[in-house]
Amino acid sequence: MPNISSIHHCYGCSLCATVCSKKIISITLNKNGFYEPTITDTTQCTDCSLCMEVCAFANKELANNDNRPIKSYAAWSKEYAVQRKCSSGGAGYELGRTLMAQGYEVCGVRYNAEAGRAEHYIASTPEELIPAIGSKYIQSYTLDGFCAIDRKRKYLVTGTPCQIDSFRRYIRKFRVEDNFVLMDFFCHSVPSMWVWNKYLRMVEQVTGKVNYASWRNKHTGWHDSWAMGIDGEKTAEKMDWHDSYNLLIREKKSFFNSRLSQGDVFYNLFLGDFCCNRACQKNCKYKYDVSPR
Ligand SMILES: Cc1cc2nc3c(=O)[nH]c(=O)nc-3n(C[C@H](O)[C@H](O)[C@H](O)COP(=O)(O)OP(=O)(O)OC[C@H]3O[C@@H](n4cnc5c(N)ncnc54)[C@H](O)[C@@H]3O)c2cc1C
Repeated sequence: MPNISSIHHCYGCSLCATVCSKKIISITLNKNGFYEPTITDTTQCTDCSLCMEVCAFANKELANNDNRPIKSYAAWSKEYAVQRKCSSGGAGYELGRTLMAQGYEVCGVRYNAEAGRAEHYIASTPEELIPAIGSKYIQSYTLDGFCAIDRKRKYLVTGTPCQIDSFRRYIRKFRVEDNFVLMDFFCHSVPSMWVWNKYLRMVEQVTGKVNYASWRNKHTGWHDSWAMGIDGEKTAEKMDWHDSYNLLIREKKSFFNSRLSQGDVFYNLFLGDFCCNRACQKNCKYKYDVSPR
């Protein structure tokens, strides 16, 4: 029976590790800076092959391959504060908030500044959902968030199309699909975490230790919102004006505002496809009108 030991340079969704009852699959960054599974103790593998069965990368077909017609709607939040903080119109946040009122929890993505990474987590209240607002244009570490899901309860799960495709395979295995609403989005790809880490080190020279990052900062308006807004711990008194980084100082905190239109390094590398995941570039099955809905 196959297991994921032969899988490399995959989507890094971690569903293989989530489903493994022996808990012998670890998820770590590979040499290119993307999450990848490794079997830590092959002697304990029971050859159940569940890790392969839930893997969207290893399976050619989409979990939902019934060719149902896709319906399109346009939606945005009516609340100005939500529109401003969300990456697009805030439909993701509003859907989460609405489903919470119907007894759902939300498994979404927040930025963990301490670990310098994006990660899936569970939000049970609208307040807890606030960190999920906004796209974090780096690969999310899903394992802890997915493992915290109680399959008997109801959840909205959001993520990239490949994460959602594997997640659907996972909940089908346990016949609990009815407990879940799944939401993905159009996805450019994810950039290498090595690039993100280097960018953080560069920004930290200006801001001190980063404690908040927003990828679509609308500080100077909506239409040029490919902007990194980063808060650090340095106080304004300790800092020098730094023209090349387009630094703005806000209250006591340092604030780094770097825009694509002004040549932001992170956006140039990410949107120029210089540091994107091989699996996204060569093996993405979710382009154009293909969605794992
Ligand atoms: C890596 C990435 C690439 C994207 N590429 C494109 C693209 O090419 N074209 C396009 O039209 N849209 C793209 N998007 C989607 C877009 O940025 C918005 O998320 C989307 O339009 C929804 O906006 P919203 O205002 O409803 O979201 P919000 O209400 O701001 O919610 C954002 C949602 O995205 C989830 N999320 C945030 N970061 C991640 C992450 N790293 N991994 C998984 N889920 C995450 C959150 O949990 C939340 O549910 C991408 C998003 C990501 C994370």
